[in-house]
Amino acid sequence: VENSLDAGADDIRIELKAGGKTLIRVTDNGSGMTREDVQAAICRHATSKLAGIDDLRTLSSFGFRGEALAAVAAVSRMTIETSPDESGEGTRLEVEAGDPVEVAVTGRPRGTTVTARTLFFNLAPRRSFLKSDSYELKVIVETVRGYALAWPAVRFTVVADDRTLFNLPPAATTRERIAELYDRRVAEALVELRVENPLLTVSGYLSDHTQLRAFFDVQMVYFNRRPVRSRVVTRALYDAYGPALGSNRPNFVVFFETDPARLDVNIHPTKEEVRFSDERFLFDFLSEAASKALGLRRGTQTGADEFLFQQTMTTEESLPSGFWQVHNSYIMAQVTTGYIIVDQHAAHERVLYEDMLGTRRTVQPQGLLFPITVELSPEEHEAWELVRGQLPEIGLEAHAFSGRTVVIETVPAGSFLGKAEVREFFAELVRVRRAKGNIADEVVKVMACKGAIKAGQKLSQQEMESLVNRLFACREPYFCPHGRPAVLRVTVEELDRKFGRT
Ligand code: ADP
Ligand code: MG
Repeated sequence: VENSLDAGADDIRIELKAGGKTLIRVTDNGSGMTREDVQAAICRHATSKLAGIDDLRTLSSFGFRGEALAAVAAVSRMTIETSPDESGEGTRLEVEAGDPVEVAVTGRPRGTTVTARTLFFNLAPRRSFLKSDSYELKVIVETVRGYALAWPAVRFTVVADDRTLFNLPPAATTRERIAELYDRRVAEALVELRVENPLLTVSGYLSDHTQLRAFFDVQMVYFNRRPVRSRVVTRALYDAYGPALGSNRPNFVVFFETDPARLDVNIHPTKEEVRFSDERFLFDFLSEAASKALGLRRGTQTGADEFLFQQTMTTEESLPSGFWQVHNSYIMAQVTTGYIIVDQHAAHERVLYEDMLGTRRTVQPQGLLFPITVELSPEEHEAWELVRGQLPEIGLEAHAFSGRTVVIETVPAGSFLGKAEVREFFAELVRVRRAKGNIADEVVKVMACKGAIKAGQKLSQQEMESLVNRLFACREPYFCPHGRPAVLRVTVEELDRKFGRT
């Protein structure tokens, strides 16, 4: 079936006998094969889907390892009938236990029919491991359903022992397919999900939270239309329902489209498990997108350039009379000898600087809910090339998107790098480079400066406390990396003197 989809077919018919044990036949109207190609196709590692080594990273077809046909041919009596054009003429190849036994001309329309008879006829022990006909049939039907959901425009027909199990007409949407395959009510109780960003598109359907039931009919996940299992996806979707879920189980059919280079699809021999390169990002992104689609948790959504800040500043806390913020720029705090005034920007700059420089390993990358995309000038791009290897060490993970566009996926945890700051960061890199400064050293300073909270930013009590504590854990808390003071200290004696008490 994957080969038929790869061949661009829009009509795929699957015929089975005895749960596939005595016959599995797949007929498609795809691109077909020439007489030479069909003979090569049954050899191990023969594939038409790789033109060069680079394709391995960017492949969007299902196949490329050239193993399926060879593997099935080796354990069955196989017939392949195929034609690459509308001439009405094609090739018939008979294969027995992997060896071609006859090649003949045959009449047939464009497309391919692969018939595998008497599976494992030459491998009795393996044959004995097959389960009952009805069980094997069920597994096959589930597999076909999986493809049918992802390819609604393709007609799928399944005929088992001369009984048509389904004949799915081409549909415009997966929702229509769901209605055909399951039940119209199942399809109607779904909300649609669709979120795009430069790295990832998520689309699909999931149960409306008001219509949850104890059992699900369908839970399918796809990466680039490949059915996969992904625990992180299931967890993120369950998370999206919050308390509404209870002990219910939602239906979902979710499609991810992403650059194939970001997926590791071949860790599992049958390719059904994938790992996304950044599962943490995936979880947050999906859970947020799904709860929005469900109309839940509206209050916490963030803007496109904002990042997921762990201790969000959404709750307005009333400040106790002791620890407070002046003009949203300075933090006043009592200490045993008097009080201190902390410049919040300079302090945070110092904290980030030491985090990055002194104990680099403690800098955690923080996944962005919405990765930041920036178009760099030629000069900025050059500067970036110089320092890009160093950036992940300080929590900034970025990669080239296309041309001079760069996508920022993580920022140093606890920093305030948003799109504007990222722009400034690159501009600053160019200035440092022009001034012939040591760019490697300067990167950390520039990043600390751009990532630090600014004057004028309101902080919660918790954030103020955390900032002051982190500052005093620094080696050099009293100055920002540029040498400006970060803390002023006023003693009680000084106050006493000024008020004429002594
Ligand atoms: P892979 O799909 O990894 O390339 P397969 O063993 O599944 O390996 O198939 C080998 C080759 O046979 C494919 O690359 C393709 O060129 C050809 N092929 C197999 N099935 C079909 C089909 N239904 N239509 C057209 N070509 C096919
Ligand atoms: Mg294949």
